[in-house]
Amino acid sequence: MLLFKEVKSLQKYLIGKNGSVGFVPTMGALHAGHMSIVRHARTENDISVCSIFVNPTQFNESSDLDAYPRLPGQDIAKLSEEGNDILFMPSVHEIYPTELPEPKAVDLNGLDQGMEGAFRPGHFAGVAQVVGRLLDIVNPHRLYMGQKDYQQVAVIDHVIRETGRSVELRVHPTIRETDGLAMSSRNLRLNLDERNQAIRIYQTLQEIQVGFSAEMPISQLEDEALKALDRPGFKPEYVAIVDRKTLLPFRYQQNENGAVACVACWVGGVRLIDNILLEPLRLA
Ligand code: AMP
Repeated sequence: MLLFKEVKSLQKYLIGKNGSVGFVPTMGALHAGHMSIVRHARTENDISVCSIFVNPTQFNESSDLDAYPRLPGQDIAKLSEEGNDILFMPSVHEIYPTELPEPKAVDLNGLDQGMEGAFRPGHFAGVAQVVGRLLDIVNPHRLYMGQKDYQQVAVIDHVIRETGRSVELRVHPTIRETDGLAMSSRNLRLNLDERNQAIRIYQTLQEIQVGFSAEMPISQLEDEALKALDRPGFKPEYVAIVDRKTLLPFRYQQNENGAVACVACWVGGVRLIDNILLEPLRLA
């Protein structure tokens, strides 16, 4: 695996290469969820590029940015073992040089307003900014992201179409621990008790699925899920059942896009998010 820290040297290398490039942007502290996406990028393209960059502009609290796990040695070992071709690990100055003109902000069409956007002001403007900059640098044929960050995928899909980029977005399902907890770099910050309790988040999403199949009222499903997560050591921020495309509140009467249930919940001092694609009851 080749490691690049500078934009210029990465671009010089890529310009001399033929074939398709698959790109996986990450913030590091890599786990099996990241690695499954990297595997797709590697097997579906001639060259796989993974970036590790903890993007300051998407953090709305500096304490969260400071506490974000950073494990570069371990990450390099995992990516090499996976057979990833290129790792890009830029500094903040490489991504945001002072001489770069301010990017034109893309209208996110309200996709950034609810859920994460409501609790993390400015988060998606930061995500759109960094992904735009990374796409400009790497210029991949395919961009790989995880369904774990459902709203992020919706925002980036919109940005790609709105800006007329030719990159193809490929989204892969959430990889979970055997007990159901969605893998996340932030899980490293949970103590053992919190880690064991955190499975309650996915269990609550599964309970929503059961109620959804029975067409229980959406607001009741959301309220009951919030109650189920309101337990010692937990602080749920939102449970939202929304249209998979528009991210607007879901209505059974307007069901053409399907529904997704999204949740954000603090467990101790760690903020976790997860989601489940809700399926209607299928009669055999
Ligand atoms: P992050 O490093 O958290 O910014 O994540 C980088 C990419 O990996 C994003 O596209 C995430 O959605 C994806 N990702 C994170 N966790 C998982 C997971 N458990 N399963 C699948 N993809 C994931």
